[in-house]
Amino acid sequence: MKVRVEHLRCQGHARCHALAPDLFDLDDSGYVRPGDIVVPAGQEALAQRAVRACPERALAIEAGDAAAEGS
Ligand code: SF4
Repeated sequence: MKVRVEHLRCQGHARCHALAPDLFDLDDSGYVRPGDIVVPAGQEALAQRAVRACPERALAIEAGDAAAEGS
């Protein structure tokens, strides 16, 4: 699973980082760093919570694996 980061939407609320600091790295201004985030096995639920917590919808889940999607 990956999290796609729409960096230009990020407003620096840092909710993603508050929920999952190991997954969401912020720059010195408090904005999430650009680039897809590869979610390690076992942290999928945490990543999904953080994605839902972003008020700017700057984060999106990319399953990228048909098996993982159950199809
Ligand atoms: S919660 Fe959303 S707006 Fe806030 S830092 Fe994370 S990606 Fe950016």
